[in-house]
Amino acid sequence: SVNKQPIVDNVFTIVSKAKQAIAEYGNDAVVNATIGSLYGEDGKLVALDTVYDSLKNLDNRSMAAYAASFTGNPDFKEQVYDWVLNGNSQLKHEVIATPGGTGAVDMTVSYCLDPGQTLVLPSLAWGSYNLMAQMNNLKTVKYDLFEEDHFNLNSFKKACLSAMEVQDRLVVIINDPCHNPSGYSLSKEEWNEVIAFLNECSKTHSVVLLNDIAYIDFSYQQEKAKEYMNCFDSISDNVVVVIAFSLSKSMTSYGLRCGAAIILAQKEQAVQEVKIVFEKNARATWSNINNGAMNMFVDVMKNHKEKYNEERNQYVSLLKERSDIFVQEAKEVGLKHYPYKEGFFVTLSMDNETRDKYHQALMDQHIYTVKVNNGIRVAVCSLSVDKVKGLAKRMKDIYDQVQ
Ligand code: PLP
Repeated sequence: SVNKQPIVDNVFTIVSKAKQAIAEYGNDAVVNATIGSLYGEDGKLVALDTVYDSLKNLDNRSMAAYAASFTGNPDFKEQVYDWVLNGNSQLKHEVIATPGGTGAVDMTVSYCLDPGQTLVLPSLAWGSYNLMAQMNNLKTVKYDLFEEDHFNLNSFKKACLSAMEVQDRLVVIINDPCHNPSGYSLSKEEWNEVIAFLNECSKTHSVVLLNDIAYIDFSYQQEKAKEYMNCFDSISDNVVVVIAFSLSKSMTSYGLRCGAAIILAQKEQAVQEVKIVFEKNARATWSNINNGAMNMFVDVMKNHKEKYNEERNQYVSLLKERSDIFVQEAKEVGLKHYPYKEGFFVTLSMDNETRDKYHQALMDQHIYTVKVNNGIRVAVCSLSVDKVKGLAKRMKDIYDQVQ
């Protein structure tokens, strides 16, 4: 039966509190570290010129028209595959256009498991995974993401094995690189270990690995961040990888609702089995995807790629500058956070009881953050360099007061 509890959206409620505080006390007095979108130093949402110049140059009919197919336009699918895999895969593949990364994740979760079955998730994770599980009547089992400062392979294995005890298949979500909300990225060795283990699991269970790469194009490694995907080449025949790609962050086009699910497997038949179900789901749920957004992506990739990379990379550097300052200062003052490598968020680590007190104490000092499981998320993606400077010390002082 459907859970009739209203959604508690930790982000949007606090965002509005922060806005209220800015109206009351002025922008300089408030630190709004809640917003999970990329903001410029001017305090405004970044909308890349290369993206929006391309979109606005499209013929009106290009935006008015339906897509060419329920699975997305062929040129879009081709460009997505090339952009995401970047020559790092030999596997058979199909691409299905989806409404954002959300569409790709939900479609995989809902069609690869039956109601009552169990989905494997990280315990520190994007909140929507849990809601998707709930709406699809799935149970969840969680793995701890970290053991000290590295990926907790043992906990991952334990969670997978417990799901395998009760069902004939295994569906796991990994959000990498630039994990939301920790900013962790697995090393190639860690990825190899994950794949070796999933291959073991596939001897008795069919396995789907859902890799959510929503933030990949803001990795500090850029092209190199895609190289680990060649480890998928060694999956066994009984493993399917679904990569959830999103234009939201990559193109700064959150509202255009465009993304893709990339299905990878050794055998064409395995790819087709998943594709057929996904295609029917697409047709039955959203019918087809924003044609203008797909055409913009194709145009940017074919005709403006260099400019797009240049423009995006300026913001990748800016994000790195902000996170370097925060992480360095946090280290100096002893403010504890989960292992951060790259990406939109840094998350302070603490138990949930401390978190609740601390979150309120921060708001009392006009610092607005987002509560996550065992942590406080600081969105460095939307804070100017000036606002980041000195923030770790202020946060540490307030932390010491609630202890
Ligand atoms: N995955 C993660 C981890 C996210 O944080 C987000 C957005 O916040 C998404 C996927 C999906 O975003 P969208 O549906 O806008 O592509």
